[in-house]
Amino acid sequence: MIIGIDDTDSNEGMCTTYLGALLLEELQAYGAVETFPLLVRLNPTIPYKTRGNAAVALKLKTVCPEKVIAHVISRVEELARIECEKTNPGVVFILEKDYKILKPVLGNFLEEAVRNVIEIQEAKSLIKEFEISSKGFKNGRGLIGALAACGAMLNPEEWDHTFEHLAYRQKERWGTPREIEKESFFEADRKTYPGTWDTVDLTNRLVVCVPHSADPVLFGIRGETPTIVTEAASMIKSEPVERFAVYRTNQGTDMHLLSAANAAEIRDMHSYMLEGMVSAFPKTIHGGHVIFSIRDNEGNEIDCAAFEPTKNFRALVRKLMPGDKVVLSGSASSGTLNIEKIEIKKLAPLHKEENPKCPNCEKHMKSTGQGQQFRCKKCGTHVPSKVRCEVKRDLETGLYEVPPCARRHLAKPLVREKRSDIGIHPAR
Ligand SMILES: [Zn+2]
Repeated sequence: MIIGIDDTDSNEGMCTTYLGALLLEELQAYGAVETFPLLVRLNPTIPYKTRGNAAVALKLKTVCPEKVIAHVISRVEELARIECEKTNPGVVFILEKDYKILKPVLGNFLEEAVRNVIEIQEAKSLIKEFEISSKGFKNGRGLIGALAACGAMLNPEEWDHTFEHLAYRQKERWGTPREIEKESFFEADRKTYPGTWDTVDLTNRLVVCVPHSADPVLFGIRGETPTIVTEAASMIKSEPVERFAVYRTNQGTDMHLLSAANAAEIRDMHSYMLEGMVSAFPKTIHGGHVIFSIRDNEGNEIDCAAFEPTKNFRALVRKLMPGDKVVLSGSASSGTLNIEKIEIKKLAPLHKEENPKCPNCEKHMKSTGQGQQFRCKKCGTHVPSKVRCEVKRDLETGLYEVPPCARRHLAKPLVREKRSDIGIHPAR
Protein backbone atom coordinates (compact mmCIF):
# COMPACT_ATOMS: atom_id res chain seq x y z
CA MET A 1 0.00 0.00 0.00
CA ILE A 2 0.97 3.65 -0.40
CA ILE A 3 0.61 6.15 2.42
CA GLY A 4 0.51 9.88 1.68
CA ILE A 5 0.83 12.46 4.47
CA ASP A 6 0.79 16.23 4.34
CA ASP A 7 0.55 19.35 6.44
CA THR A 8 1.46 18.07 9.90
CA ASP A 9 3.97 20.81 10.64
CA SER A 10 3.59 24.36 11.81
CA ASN A 11 5.86 27.37 11.67
CA GLU A 12 6.96 26.56 15.21
CA GLY A 13 7.76 22.89 14.99
CA MET A 14 7.35 19.38 13.66
CA CYS A 15 8.03 18.44 10.10
CA THR A 16 6.12 16.02 7.92
CA THR A 17 9.39 14.40 6.84
CA TYR A 18 10.19 13.59 10.48
CA LEU A 19 6.84 11.88 10.90
CA GLY A 20 7.66 9.98 7.70
CA ALA A 21 11.02 8.91 9.12
CA LEU A 22 9.38 7.69 12.34
CA LEU A 23 6.72 5.77 10.44
CA LEU A 24 9.32 4.16 8.18
CA GLU A 25 10.71 2.51 11.29
CA GLU A 26 7.44 1.77 13.08
CA LEU A 27 5.66 0.33 10.05
CA GLN A 28 8.23 -2.43 9.74
CA ALA A 29 6.15 -4.17 12.40
CA TYR A 30 3.38 -4.49 9.78
CA GLY A 31 5.30 -5.24 6.63
CA ALA A 32 8.28 -4.43 4.47
CA VAL A 33 9.01 -0.91 3.26
CA GLU A 34 9.48 -0.89 -0.51
CA THR A 35 11.65 1.72 -2.23
CA PHE A 36 12.70 5.19 -0.99
CA PRO A 37 10.18 7.36 0.83
CA LEU A 38 9.18 10.43 -1.19
CA LEU A 39 9.40 14.07 -0.26
CA VAL A 40 7.21 16.00 -2.67
CA ARG A 41 7.28 19.77 -2.81
CA LEU A 42 4.05 21.35 -4.00
CA ASN A 43 3.32 24.76 -5.56
CA PRO A 44 5.69 27.08 -3.69
CA THR A 45 3.53 30.17 -4.17
CA ILE A 46 0.47 29.00 -2.21
CA PRO A 47 -0.04 31.61 0.52
CA TYR A 48 -1.58 29.34 3.18
CA LYS A 49 1.19 26.76 3.06
CA THR A 50 3.14 25.93 6.18
CA ARG A 51 6.89 26.39 5.73
CA GLY A 52 8.07 24.34 2.76
CA ASN A 53 4.82 22.94 1.37
CA ALA A 54 6.19 19.39 1.51
CA ALA A 55 4.24 16.14 1.47
CA VAL A 56 5.53 12.65 2.10
CA ALA A 57 4.69 9.21 0.67
CA LEU A 58 5.74 5.76 1.87
CA LYS A 59 5.26 2.41 0.15
CA LEU A 60 4.72 -0.71 2.19
CA LYS A 61 4.11 -4.36 1.39
CA THR A 62 1.67 -5.54 4.02
CA VAL A 63 -1.02 -8.13 4.67
CA CYS A 64 -2.71 -6.04 7.33
CA PRO A 65 -3.56 -2.64 5.78
CA GLU A 66 -6.25 -1.92 8.43
CA LYS A 67 -3.63 -2.06 11.17
CA VAL A 68 -1.32 0.24 9.19
CA ILE A 69 -4.14 2.73 8.66
CA ALA A 70 -5.00 2.76 12.36
CA HIS A 71 -1.36 3.17 13.36
CA VAL A 72 -0.64 6.01 10.94
CA ILE A 73 -3.78 7.93 11.89
CA SER A 74 -3.03 7.63 15.59
CA ARG A 75 0.55 8.85 15.09
CA VAL A 76 -0.59 11.84 13.01
CA GLU A 77 -3.17 12.72 15.71
CA GLU A 78 -0.46 12.50 18.31
CA LEU A 79 2.38 14.32 16.53
CA ALA A 80 0.88 16.80 14.10
CA ARG A 81 0.69 20.42 15.24
CA ILE A 82 -3.08 20.34 15.00
CA GLU A 83 -3.40 23.31 17.37
CA CYS A 84 -1.69 25.55 14.83
CA GLU A 85 -4.24 27.51 12.83
CA LYS A 86 -2.47 26.87 9.53
CA THR A 87 -1.95 23.16 10.12
CA ASN A 88 -4.63 21.01 8.51
CA PRO A 89 -3.24 17.48 8.23
CA GLY A 90 -4.33 14.95 5.67
CA VAL A 91 -3.51 11.25 5.30
CA VAL A 92 -4.36 9.07 2.32
CA PHE A 93 -4.02 5.30 1.88
CA ILE A 94 -3.89 3.64 -1.53
CA LEU A 95 -4.38 -0.11 -1.55
CA GLU A 96 -2.43 -2.23 -4.00
CA LYS A 97 -5.58 -3.32 -5.83
CA ASP A 98 -6.23 0.32 -6.74
CA TYR A 99 -2.74 1.16 -8.04
CA LYS A 100 -3.63 0.64 -11.67
CA ILE A 101 -6.77 2.72 -11.78
CA LEU A 102 -5.34 5.54 -9.66
CA LYS A 103 -1.95 5.79 -11.38
CA PRO A 104 -3.04 8.18 -14.18
CA VAL A 105 -5.59 10.00 -12.03
CA LEU A 106 -3.15 10.82 -9.24
CA GLY A 107 -0.27 11.40 -11.65
CA ASN A 108 -2.33 14.18 -13.12
CA PHE A 109 -3.27 15.42 -9.69
CA LEU A 110 0.42 15.59 -8.74
CA GLU A 111 1.22 17.85 -11.67
CA GLU A 112 -1.70 20.09 -10.81
CA ALA A 113 -0.66 20.31 -7.16
CA VAL A 114 2.89 21.32 -8.08
CA ARG A 115 2.03 23.78 -10.87
CA ASN A 116 -1.45 25.02 -10.15
CA VAL A 117 -3.79 25.87 -7.33
CA ILE A 118 -6.02 23.05 -6.15
CA GLU A 119 -9.06 23.55 -3.96
CA ILE A 120 -9.70 21.18 -1.07
CA GLN A 121 -13.01 20.27 -2.65
CA GLU A 122 -11.22 18.76 -5.67
CA ALA A 123 -9.25 16.46 -3.39
CA LYS A 124 -12.36 15.50 -1.46
CA SER A 125 -14.36 14.73 -4.62
CA LEU A 126 -11.56 12.52 -5.91
CA ILE A 127 -11.41 10.65 -2.61
CA LYS A 128 -15.15 10.11 -2.73
CA GLU A 129 -15.26 9.06 -6.38
CA PHE A 130 -12.53 6.44 -6.02
CA GLU A 131 -13.43 5.46 -2.45
CA ILE A 132 -9.92 6.16 -1.20
CA SER A 133 -9.22 5.55 2.50
CA SER A 134 -8.26 8.87 4.02
CA LYS A 135 -8.42 11.06 7.05
CA GLY A 136 -8.49 14.84 6.91
CA PHE A 137 -8.08 16.86 10.07
CA LYS A 138 -9.74 20.27 10.52
CA ASN A 139 -10.34 21.69 7.03
CA GLY A 140 -8.43 18.77 5.49
CA ARG A 141 -6.20 20.87 3.27
CA GLY A 142 -3.42 18.32 3.78
CA LEU A 143 -5.43 15.83 1.71
CA ILE A 144 -4.23 17.73 -1.38
CA GLY A 145 -0.55 17.09 -0.71
CA ALA A 146 -1.22 13.57 0.58
CA LEU A 147 -2.95 12.63 -2.69
CA ALA A 148 -0.23 14.35 -4.74
CA ALA A 149 2.51 12.45 -2.89
CA CYS A 150 0.69 9.16 -3.61
CA GLY A 151 0.53 10.24 -7.26
CA ALA A 152 4.30 10.68 -7.23
CA MET A 153 4.77 7.19 -5.73
CA LEU A 154 2.48 5.65 -8.35
CA ASN A 155 4.36 7.35 -11.21
CA PRO A 156 8.05 7.16 -10.28
CA GLU A 157 9.21 7.40 -13.91
CA GLU A 158 7.13 10.43 -14.78
CA TRP A 159 9.15 13.04 -12.93
CA ASP A 160 12.79 14.04 -12.59
CA HIS A 161 14.16 13.47 -9.08
CA THR A 162 17.01 14.14 -6.68
CA PHE A 163 17.70 12.88 -3.15
CA GLU A 164 17.90 14.45 0.28
CA HIS A 165 19.52 12.98 3.37
CA LEU A 166 17.62 14.44 6.32
CA ALA A 167 19.15 14.15 9.78
CA TYR A 168 16.95 14.82 12.82
CA ARG A 169 17.65 16.13 16.30
CA GLN A 170 17.09 14.45 19.64
CA LYS A 171 13.72 15.51 20.99
CA GLU A 172 15.07 17.27 24.09
CA ARG A 173 17.03 19.64 21.85
CA TRP A 174 14.10 20.76 19.71
CA GLY A 175 13.72 24.51 19.86
CA THR A 176 17.29 25.10 21.08
CA PRO A 177 20.13 26.43 18.90
CA ARG A 178 21.69 23.71 16.75
CA GLU A 179 25.22 22.67 17.64
CA ILE A 180 27.10 22.22 14.41
CA GLU A 181 30.66 22.58 13.23
CA LYS A 182 30.28 24.93 10.33
CA GLU A 183 33.59 24.02 8.76
CA SER A 184 32.51 20.37 8.40
CA PHE A 185 29.73 21.47 6.03
CA PHE A 186 32.21 23.36 3.85
CA GLU A 187 34.44 20.29 3.90
CA ALA A 188 31.56 17.97 2.93
CA ASP A 189 30.67 20.35 0.11
CA ARG A 190 34.27 20.46 -1.18
CA LYS A 191 34.40 16.66 -1.27
CA THR A 192 31.00 15.94 -2.83
CA TYR A 193 30.06 18.92 -5.02
CA PRO A 194 28.74 18.77 -7.79
CA GLY A 195 27.16 15.46 -6.69
CA THR A 196 25.61 17.46 -3.84
CA TRP A 197 24.57 21.13 -3.82
CA ASP A 198 23.13 23.81 -1.58
CA THR A 199 24.94 22.52 1.48
CA VAL A 200 26.74 25.85 1.79
CA ASP A 201 26.79 29.17 -0.01
CA LEU A 202 30.44 29.92 -0.73
CA THR A 203 29.95 33.49 -1.94
CA ASN A 204 27.89 34.48 1.07
CA ARG A 205 29.86 32.22 3.48
CA LEU A 206 26.72 30.55 4.83
CA VAL A 207 25.72 27.02 5.79
CA VAL A 208 22.38 26.78 4.02
CA CYS A 209 21.33 23.20 4.71
CA VAL A 210 20.66 23.78 8.42
CA PRO A 211 17.25 25.27 9.24
CA HIS A 212 16.78 27.87 11.97
CA SER A 213 13.23 26.99 12.94
CA ALA A 214 12.14 24.92 15.93
CA ASP A 215 11.49 21.80 13.84
CA PRO A 216 13.30 18.47 14.33
CA VAL A 217 15.54 18.77 11.25
CA LEU A 218 19.25 19.08 12.06
CA PHE A 219 20.38 19.32 8.45
CA GLY A 220 19.45 18.13 4.96
CA ILE A 221 21.99 17.27 2.28
CA ARG A 222 20.70 17.46 -1.28
CA GLY A 223 22.24 15.65 -4.18
CA GLU A 224 22.01 13.48 -7.23
CA THR A 225 22.17 9.98 -5.67
CA PRO A 226 21.42 8.34 -2.30
CA THR A 227 25.08 7.35 -2.01
CA ILE A 228 26.52 10.83 -2.42
CA VAL A 229 24.10 12.54 -0.02
CA THR A 230 24.83 9.93 2.63
CA GLU A 231 28.55 10.22 2.04
CA ALA A 232 28.36 14.00 2.54
CA ALA A 233 26.20 13.55 5.66
CA SER A 234 28.80 11.22 7.16
CA MET A 235 31.33 14.08 7.07
CA ILE A 236 29.19 16.45 9.15
CA LYS A 237 30.26 17.11 12.72
CA SER A 238 27.38 18.13 14.95
CA GLU A 239 25.25 17.36 18.00
CA PRO A 240 23.97 13.73 18.04
CA VAL A 241 21.69 12.67 15.20
CA GLU A 242 18.57 10.98 16.58
CA ARG A 243 17.62 9.40 13.26
CA PHE A 244 17.88 10.09 9.55
CA ALA A 245 16.05 9.27 6.36
CA VAL A 246 17.01 9.48 2.69
CA TYR A 247 14.14 10.78 0.60
CA ARG A 248 13.67 10.67 -3.14
CA THR A 249 12.30 14.07 -4.04
CA ASN A 250 11.17 16.47 -6.77
CA GLN A 251 13.37 19.18 -5.23
CA GLY A 252 15.81 20.74 -7.66
CA THR A 253 13.87 19.67 -10.77
CA ASP A 254 11.96 22.79 -11.94
CA MET A 255 8.79 20.72 -11.82
CA HIS A 256 6.88 23.85 -10.75
CA LEU A 257 7.59 25.78 -13.95
CA LEU A 258 4.97 26.29 -16.63
CA SER A 259 5.99 27.49 -20.03
CA ALA A 260 4.40 30.89 -20.69
CA ALA A 261 3.77 31.75 -24.34
CA ASN A 262 3.46 35.43 -23.42
CA ALA A 263 3.39 37.79 -20.45
CA ALA A 264 -0.37 38.22 -20.67
CA GLU A 265 -1.05 34.64 -19.57
CA ILE A 266 0.95 34.98 -16.36
CA ARG A 267 -1.17 34.58 -13.24
CA ASP A 268 -0.23 35.07 -9.60
CA MET A 269 0.49 31.90 -7.59
CA HIS A 270 2.05 30.13 -10.57
CA SER A 271 5.67 29.78 -11.71
CA TYR A 272 6.85 30.19 -15.28
CA MET A 273 9.54 30.30 -17.88
CA LEU A 274 9.02 33.38 -20.02
CA GLU A 275 11.01 34.71 -22.94
CA GLY A 276 11.22 38.41 -23.63
CA MET A 277 13.26 41.49 -24.21
CA VAL A 278 14.37 43.74 -21.39
CA SER A 279 12.33 46.92 -21.85
CA ALA A 280 13.47 49.15 -18.99
CA PHE A 281 16.73 49.59 -17.16
CA PRO A 282 16.86 47.77 -13.80
CA LYS A 283 16.42 50.04 -10.83
CA THR A 284 17.10 49.42 -7.18
CA ILE A 285 14.18 50.33 -4.96
CA HIS A 286 13.78 50.74 -1.20
CA GLY A 287 14.89 47.60 0.60
CA GLY A 288 17.52 46.77 -2.00
CA HIS A 289 15.18 44.99 -4.41
CA VAL A 290 16.05 45.27 -8.09
CA ILE A 291 13.14 45.74 -10.51
CA PHE A 292 13.06 45.88 -14.31
CA SER A 293 10.56 45.01 -16.99
CA ILE A 294 10.52 42.76 -20.01
CA ARG A 295 8.35 42.81 -23.12
CA ASP A 296 7.24 39.65 -24.90
CA ASN A 297 7.07 39.42 -28.68
CA GLU A 298 3.41 40.47 -28.63
CA GLY A 299 4.20 43.70 -26.83
CA ASN A 300 2.93 42.75 -23.35
CA GLU A 301 5.12 43.95 -20.51
CA ILE A 302 5.65 42.50 -17.05
CA ASP A 303 7.66 43.66 -14.05
CA CYS A 304 10.43 41.34 -12.90
CA ALA A 305 12.22 41.39 -9.58
CA ALA A 306 15.38 40.15 -7.96
CA PHE A 307 14.57 40.69 -4.31
CA GLU A 308 17.09 41.62 -1.64
CA PRO A 309 17.53 38.02 -0.35
CA THR A 310 18.92 37.04 -3.75
CA LYS A 311 22.08 38.92 -2.67
CA ASN A 312 24.84 38.89 -5.31
CA PHE A 313 22.40 37.81 -8.05
CA ARG A 314 21.18 41.42 -8.03
CA ALA A 315 24.56 42.68 -9.22
CA LEU A 316 24.12 40.58 -12.37
CA VAL A 317 20.54 41.75 -12.90
CA ARG A 318 21.61 45.41 -12.60
CA LYS A 319 23.82 44.91 -15.67
CA LEU A 320 20.85 44.16 -17.93
CA MET A 321 19.70 46.83 -20.33
CA PRO A 322 16.85 47.39 -22.76
CA GLY A 323 17.15 45.15 -25.79
CA ASP A 324 18.71 42.19 -23.99
CA LYS A 325 16.98 38.94 -24.93
CA VAL A 326 16.28 36.78 -21.89
CA VAL A 327 14.35 33.76 -20.67
CA LEU A 328 13.31 34.14 -17.05
CA SER A 329 12.23 31.44 -14.61
CA GLY A 330 10.30 32.49 -11.55
CA SER A 331 6.98 32.74 -9.79
CA ALA A 332 4.35 35.40 -10.15
CA SER A 333 3.09 37.39 -7.22
CA SER A 334 1.26 40.76 -7.30
CA GLY A 335 1.78 40.81 -11.06
CA THR A 336 5.57 40.65 -10.70
CA LEU A 337 7.79 37.79 -11.79
CA ASN A 338 10.12 36.89 -8.92
CA ILE A 339 13.24 35.62 -10.70
CA GLU A 340 14.92 32.32 -9.79
CA LYS A 341 16.99 31.92 -12.93
CA ILE A 342 17.84 33.87 -16.02
CA GLU A 343 19.08 32.82 -19.40
CA ILE A 344 20.69 35.73 -21.20
CA LYS A 345 20.31 34.74 -24.84
CA LYS A 346 21.55 37.86 -26.58
CA LEU A 347 23.03 41.11 -25.39
CA ALA A 348 21.96 44.44 -26.88
CA PRO A 349 24.89 46.38 -28.30
CA LEU A 350 26.16 49.11 -26.01
CA HIS A 351 27.40 52.31 -27.66
CA LYS A 352 29.30 55.25 -26.42
CA GLU A 353 30.23 58.50 -28.08
CA GLU A 354 33.88 59.29 -28.42
CA ASN A 355 36.15 61.69 -30.19
CA PRO A 356 36.63 60.65 -33.82
CA LYS A 357 39.86 59.37 -35.31
CA CYS A 358 41.34 61.27 -38.21
CA PRO A 359 40.48 59.47 -41.47
CA ASN A 360 43.92 60.29 -42.86
CA CYS A 361 46.35 59.69 -40.02
CA GLU A 362 44.35 57.51 -37.54
CA LYS A 363 45.08 59.90 -34.67
CA HIS A 364 42.40 60.81 -32.12
CA MET A 365 41.11 64.25 -32.98
CA LYS A 366 40.72 67.17 -30.59
CA SER A 367 37.66 69.33 -30.05
CA THR A 368 37.98 72.77 -31.55
CA GLY A 369 35.83 74.23 -28.82
CA GLN A 370 33.31 75.41 -31.44
CA GLY A 371 30.14 73.29 -31.13
CA GLN A 372 30.92 69.68 -31.89
CA GLN A 373 33.70 70.31 -34.38
CA PHE A 374 36.84 68.18 -34.26
CA ARG A 375 40.15 68.86 -35.90
CA CYS A 376 43.26 66.79 -36.51
CA LYS A 377 46.29 68.47 -35.03
CA LYS A 378 48.60 66.88 -37.58
CA CYS A 379 46.87 67.36 -40.94
CA GLY A 380 44.13 69.83 -40.11
CA THR A 381 41.19 67.64 -41.26
CA HIS A 382 37.83 68.67 -39.75
CA VAL A 383 35.08 66.28 -38.64
CA PRO A 384 31.70 67.72 -37.61
CA SER A 385 30.83 65.61 -34.50
CA LYS A 386 31.65 62.82 -32.04
CA VAL A 387 31.27 59.25 -33.33
CA ARG A 388 29.32 56.35 -31.87
CA CYS A 389 31.25 53.19 -31.25
CA GLU A 390 30.33 49.87 -29.71
CA VAL A 391 31.80 48.92 -26.34
CA LYS A 392 32.01 45.51 -24.75
CA ARG A 393 29.24 44.74 -22.23
CA ASP A 394 30.30 43.82 -18.71
CA LEU A 395 28.07 40.73 -18.99
CA GLU A 396 28.13 37.42 -20.83
CA THR A 397 25.30 35.45 -22.36
CA GLY A 398 24.48 32.25 -20.48
CA LEU A 399 22.44 30.77 -17.68
CA TYR A 400 22.54 32.36 -14.22
CA GLU A 401 20.77 31.61 -10.96
CA VAL A 402 20.15 33.00 -7.49
CA PRO A 403 22.72 31.91 -4.88
CA PRO A 404 22.13 28.77 -2.77
CA CYS A 405 20.95 30.89 0.19
CA ALA A 406 18.00 32.14 -1.88
CA ARG A 407 17.12 28.93 -3.69
CA ARG A 408 13.56 27.68 -3.92
CA HIS A 409 13.21 23.98 -3.02
CA LEU A 410 11.88 23.12 -6.48
CA ALA A 411 14.28 25.25 -8.52
CA LYS A 412 16.71 23.15 -10.52
CA PRO A 413 20.23 24.27 -9.63
CA LEU A 414 22.44 25.01 -12.63
CA VAL A 415 24.93 22.42 -11.42
CA ARG A 416 22.33 19.89 -12.66
CA GLU A 417 21.93 21.59 -16.03
CA LYS A 418 22.99 19.39 -18.95
CA ARG A 419 22.65 21.94 -21.76
CA SER A 420 25.73 22.46 -23.88
CA ASP A 421 24.46 25.16 -26.24
CA ILE A 422 25.03 27.96 -23.77
CA GLY A 423 27.39 28.99 -20.96
CA ILE A 424 26.29 27.79 -17.54
CA HIS A 425 27.21 29.83 -14.49
CA PRO A 426 26.25 27.88 -11.35
CA ALA A 427 26.07 30.00 -8.19
CA ARG A 428 28.27 28.65 -5.41
ZN1 LIG B 1 45.01 63.81 -39.63
